Amino acid sequence: MADPGYSSPLAEELAEDVLERFLRYVAVDTQSDPTSTTYPSTERQLDLSRLLVEELREIGLDDVELTEPGYVFATVPGTVDGAPTVGLIAHVDTSPAAPGDGVAPIVHRAWAGEPIVLPGDVAQVLDPDDMPGLAEKRGHDIVTSDGTTLLGADDKAGVAIVVTAAQKLLAEDAPRATARIAFTVDEEVGRGTDHFDLAAFGADFAYTFDGSGLGEVETETFSAYQLVLTITGVGVHPGTAKGRLVNALKLLADVIAALPREGLSPETTEDREGFVHPERLTGTASRATLWFIARDHDDAKLEEHVELVRGIAAAVVGREPRASFDLVVEEQYRNMRTALDRHPTIIEAAEEAIRRAGVEPVHSIIRGGTDGARLTEKGLPTPNLFTGGQHYHSVREWASVQDMAAAAATCVELVRLWGSVPVR
Ligand SMILES: [Zn+2]
Repeated sequence: MADPGYSSPLAEELAEDVLERFLRYVAVDTQSDPTSTTYPSTERQLDLSRLLVEELREIGLDDVELTEPGYVFATVPGTVDGAPTVGLIAHVDTSPAAPGDGVAPIVHRAWAGEPIVLPGDVAQVLDPDDMPGLAEKRGHDIVTSDGTTLLGADDKAGVAIVVTAAQKLLAEDAPRATARIAFTVDEEVGRGTDHFDLAAFGADFAYTFDGSGLGEVETETFSAYQLVLTITGVGVHPGTAKGRLVNALKLLADVIAALPREGLSPETTEDREGFVHPERLTGTASRATLWFIARDHDDAKLEEHVELVRGIAAAVVGREPRASFDLVVEEQYRNMRTALDRHPTIIEAAEEAIRRAGVEPVHSIIRGGTDGARLTEKGLPTPNLFTGGQHYHSVREWASVQDMAAAAATCVELVRLWGSVPVR
């Protein structure tokens, strides 16, 4: 028989439980909605949260509650006096970027390496020749959607990993730290921790299980601003506008035309390169508004990107003395690296737990943010760990059962490890 690809005996032991949970959770539509003004942004997210409350009570966790803002909190009690309290976090919502209703997962057992044609839309093919991450997983059990929806491994893989690890920890006698579990809402719309009560959660530090490929430890995110540029012109009836009308839309178009394209744009950058990205606009001839996001891993460079936009707006609008502009800069999140660098043992423990799960840790940077970045900023150091899902926010999203199981084993090893190390 071919090697099924389990990273450790513990991963193999946990695999079917992780998969069973994962398949149940993805069937619940939990898509969040960036245009909503409620919290959580969609009521349907709580369908999964309520199911999780029931399930966590059934498997015997303590202090299981659905908090008022909609987060699930629960405790795996520790067995070692003086050990720290470790937070384990995942989010229940799925991305609004692809359909999330009626997910019909398919498990491709012992995938042999052929292109995977998704039966609900045969134009959607997972071809290992175009997907190097997938090509490495020959022999694994691969889960996909039917091609008409996203899969929801982001982040139901994380939820299934944490619940499965909690059940395993409770069932064994091994020394362990206390684990506090949180399942958040609205991560995908950037509001995942808006109402997160750190004191009530009570962890000393935490890990989000919201990463991707096998072995990833993510300690570095973008720092992020939203920029809102409003240009005010002079609105006059076009029939009598000669010499008087100043068209704000044309000025806004000039600003967009002056933005860099060969670099400093998401479509032309990678790795640590930042960007400014016009996302949305609205307006009339008399007044027009453009929303940008600005991103960089380096805070000083991020400020330069903001000044670039301000400079372009000033130059364009400055040519028309009757027009004016206003630029509002709002911080969205900060690169968590600076804060995490002050707590190297939290990262080292993650690396050691990954090794104990039979996997070599890999450091990768996030071209985006995480709940962990916001929690770190609020004072709870929270790196992000892999889940085994890939190609997120797309109908071609997929997950390896073996990699999800390796992440569940990592989660168990982490809590064991923090139960065995001296507290600092
Ligand atoms: Zn996620």
